[in-house]
Amino acid sequence: MKWTQDMKKLIAGNWKMNMNTESAKAFDQAMAKVDEKIVEWLICPPYPYIQHITNTKRGAQDCSAYYSGAFTGEVSASMLADIQCDYCIVGHSERRAEAHCETSDIVRQKAQLVIDNGMTAIVCVGETLEEREEGKAFDIVEGQLLKSIPNDTRPDNCVIAYEPVWAIGTGKAATSCDVSNMHNYIREILKSNVADGEEMRILYGGSVKPDNAAELLNIDNVDGALIGGASLKAEDFIAIGKAVES
Ligand code: PEP
Repeated sequence: MKWTQDMKKLIAGNWKMNMNTESAKAFDQAMAKVDEKIVEWLICPPYPYIQHITNTKRGAQDCSAYYSGAFTGEVSASMLADIQCDYCIVGHSERRAEAHCETSDIVRQKAQLVIDNGMTAIVCVGETLEEREEGKAFDIVEGQLLKSIPNDTRPDNCVIAYEPVWAIGTGKAATSCDVSNMHNYIREILKSNVADGEEMRILYGGSVKPDNAAELLNIDNVDGALIGGASLKAEDFIAIGKAVES
């Protein structure tokens, strides 16, 4: 991907462990006519369905932290590049959480492999409800961010997704004020630590729906959205992208 100053907002769908061949193909067909002038569309299906995505950018939800070899069940970044993935999500809170216990060091290794294989890493960060209530949200996000992004990160090979854990899948998005404060904070960290950090896209994720998309997507320093539940229906996903224009 060539970096341009007027990088479009990124509307990214994370299907998690949902959909099947039929629904993935039908979704792809629904995306055939979307307008790409203002929005960059991305779908991240489960691995078996990635190649059914032909009408938007395609991405994966995760990759191995290792290059290749005896890692049963893992999928490497080079394999994702081989099937023409453009993006790979790393460090989603569902992978940082207890079931997988991924640390920011592991997330950084994955992001590095994504970048080394010519794709763009979507590095997720976000605090839990407990951390927010204890007043630690900004420190937690800053720590995750600085430990999770590789040294050679640039706006054309990395996107940050701020996803407060308490807003994911709960139907309760963060308020515009919370989103604005955190995205401005992340912007300052990127400006101080990343080459051209003022240009790196920062997505918001957490219960984005068609009815709150316009408000969330038009906040300063919100350069797109990472969408879980509402990315399972093409109609809702497209409506979210259309909110960028409004
Ligand atoms: C996500 O899992 O990245 C997410 C944002 O989910 P949801 O949109 O369902 O809150």
